[in-house]
Amino acid sequence: MKQTESTRVVPLEAGAGPENPPCPACGEPLFGWIGKKGGLRGPVRRCESCGLGVVGDPEGPDKALRELDALRDGDALRIVNRGSFATALGGAGWSGLRPEARYLFTVEAIRRLVARRDQVVKSRRWLPGASLAATWQTLLNSVTFGHNAALGALRGEPSMPPPEPWQRRIDALASVVLAIPALLVAIPVELAGGLTGRGAVYTVRTELL
Ligand SMILES: [Zn+2]
Repeated sequence: MKQTESTRVVPLEAGAGPENPPCPACGEPLFGWIGKKGGLRGPVRRCESCGLGVVGDPEGPDKALRELDALRDGDALRIVNRGSFATALGGAGWSGLRPEARYLFTVEAIRRLVARRDQVVKSRRWLPGASLAATWQTLLNSVTFGHNAALGALRGEPSMPPPEPWQRRIDALASVVLAIPALLVAIPVELAGGLTGRGAVYTVRTELL
């Protein structure tokens, strides 16, 4: 009898509470992921079901949909995938953690969100170049004081520099010295990600049902 008890499945909903507000995309409870760090709006929670990440306190699905629409690039949505291998590898160093970010999307989170307005995900496309850059930056973030220094310098993307000038100098040096080694790690990680749907950057096309 004891064995039966120990294998009892606890539904995710049982974890819901003030510390675990519902996911705006799928309604399952969000769990703490990364504590508040410089440049971010607040601590980051993640959904174990659809993978959505939420910086600070979550609001309703409308706000998440509005932020999603702001990621529109031509006729597709362009996301840095919170469900990527790079994210799992990088944790707090993941390059998708940007100062302005509020919601951190996955393809599954998009599918759940757009279903609320009778849309479906029609296709997703892995972007190898952008993905490799994002994963490379994620690896560099694990050895620098600041965040996204290289992409900030090379591509003008938002970065979170460290407060002290000497830290910024060390970051610049580390980014140069470790550029090639980080690339040699990033290539297999991103190839595996691209092949298994866990790449770093995607464009996602949606259409009305
Ligand atoms: Zn969710």
